[in-house]
Amino acid sequence: MPTNSLQKYVKKLQKLRRGEKGDEGPAPHKPLLLLSVIDLINQGHIYDNKIFPSPDLAETFLRYWSKIIVNRVRNFAMPFFHLKGDKFWHLYPNPGKEEKLRNTKRIRKVSDLLEVVNYASLDADLFLLLANQQSREVIRQTLVDKYFPNAKLEIDGLLAEERQVGEYRQLLLQEVADHPFSYQVVPEPVEEENPNRSTAFRKEIMRLYDYTCAVCRLRIVTMDGESATEAAHIIPFHISHSDDIRNGISLCKLHHWAFDKGLISLSRTYKVIVSPLMSDRHPTEWLLTEQRDKSILLPEHDLLYPAQDALKWHRDEVLRE
Ligand SMILES: [Zn+2]
Repeated sequence: MPTNSLQKYVKKLQKLRRGEKGDEGPAPHKPLLLLSVIDLINQGHIYDNKIFPSPDLAETFLRYWSKIIVNRVRNFAMPFFHLKGDKFWHLYPNPGKEEKLRNTKRIRKVSDLLEVVNYASLDADLFLLLANQQSREVIRQTLVDKYFPNAKLEIDGLLAEERQVGEYRQLLLQEVADHPFSYQVVPEPVEEENPNRSTAFRKEIMRLYDYTCAVCRLRIVTMDGESATEAAHIIPFHISHSDDIRNGISLCKLHHWAFDKGLISLSRTYKVIVSPLMSDRHPTEWLLTEQRDKSILLPEHDLLYPAQDALKWHRDEVLRE
């Protein structure tokens, strides 16, 4: 990578155009969003030059925000849109929204951003620099030194956490490729779940099921990664100590609860079993009984399906008959 290209972008990134409001000083949104993008490139979640305004990116941005920024209103949509003014960040419209994007001067709301913008890309040269570990680190350091000189420790801490979550996500997928599913019932809680590992488990399950309840297909997700669905353990973690992806499934809060209480379970053929304790005659139990015998949503690759052993355990130990 030519050093003059790196120098050029280092200079540009030191001169981000930032809005200023009252005596709050220049807005931290843009450099913070760029740090979040760099994190996702680092973890391999942004791998081509397409940056989607995804819950993953928003969640990273808000994690930085809550650690570093005090007394300012957080906003993810604004920097995603207004970085285009710095000329190296280019916006691509959703189909049919070309003219609307051209005529939009200002965006504050995430809903407006998602309506108009499909994704952003960086100058090809800049993306190449960020794809390279060495120059990526130079650029990251530049942003931290220039915009957050007093928060270096916090940022390094966050980066280490994100890195560990990323490594665990890789590891969880690797385990699926390397070993058949197995578990050991551990009678006493021997260890707390590692928070970074459980974040990795949750993120992978959410990605595989696209934030959708496998049972009822409910999908509600806010832009900060808050979701109506949860990553459920089929054999609870305190029993199996297994964060194997195949011990996981994405369920909405109602179906997660019903699954944990044994009011629903899953058959060998991935169909919903409803406990006979639930009756069609009770209209309020209809939310469960209407799912009887329906096929659940499954990940794209069958290697990642819920493990038969885990489902059998759930039918034997949890399902109420
Ligand atoms: Zn559901």
